[in-house]
Amino acid sequence: LLHIRDLQKQFQVDGRSVPILDIPQWKVEPGEQVAITGPSGSGKSTLLHLISGLLRPDRGEILLDNQPLHSLGEAQRDAFRASRIGYVMQNFHLIPSLNARQNIEIAMTGAISSKARAAVISEWLERVGLQDRGQHLPSQLSRGQQQRVAIVRALINQPPLVLADEPTGSLDWETADEIASLLLGLSRGIRHTLIVVTHDLNLAARFSRCLHIHDMNQIRQPGLSRTTGLEQREGFGG
Ligand code: ATP
Ligand code: MG
Repeated sequence: LLHIRDLQKQFQVDGRSVPILDIPQWKVEPGEQVAITGPSGSGKSTLLHLISGLLRPDRGEILLDNQPLHSLGEAQRDAFRASRIGYVMQNFHLIPSLNARQNIEIAMTGAISSKARAAVISEWLERVGLQDRGQHLPSQLSRGQQQRVAIVRALINQPPLVLADEPTGSLDWETADEIASLLLGLSRGIRHTLIVVTHDLNLAARFSRCLHIHDMNQIRQPGLSRTTGLEQREGFGG
């Protein structure tokens, strides 16, 4: 499903190029549930932005269903992304002026009537226990409820690939556990491939595969010690 080859990403910091990611080869098969861990600033969010097409790599290729995302034109890439990738971003990223239903509706693709749309949204809200919260603005929802809306928004088009960045990051442990079960259960139900970035080792342990981001970064140079990679990044991380 996802194939990363020779991926490199750098950022300009004070006029200098700072390498952030260097991933020679990484494959994720359809239906896999992968957790990515790694220290703050190690490039986890950057990796998800690259996979989702929000950022462009400096070098290398990201193939989704054998399709190189970054070689598509902008309009084509947006359409491809909307139908193939669901993205639960770090800190929800709901639109504050739209209620829960509207936040979900703007992500929906496909030509169906507004009545059918409303029915699909109701069904999903019920599935995540928010049937009576559709008209609420994000500011009127708890953090766990906002995260549920963000998850529904990411899954509503039933994309083959779902990315989630710290989906349980800012939640108390009980809510975090519920959200983790929800995300894993829903994605298993529809056989999504799920890639989740998390600091939460309890959550990571529930996945079929767990990768530490420095492991990925060092496949190219197996001789390089872990601490070297770590020091390099921490030095620039700020
Ligand atoms: P966290 O666990 O804190 O969310 P992360 O692993 O997701 O961290 P990223 O957000 O991917 O880390 O950032 C990786 C590194 O890239 C950091 O050092 C960050 O400062 C740097 N960085 C991210 N975006 C930019 C940017 N647009 N310009 C310059 N540097 C950036
Ligand atoms: Mg991050």
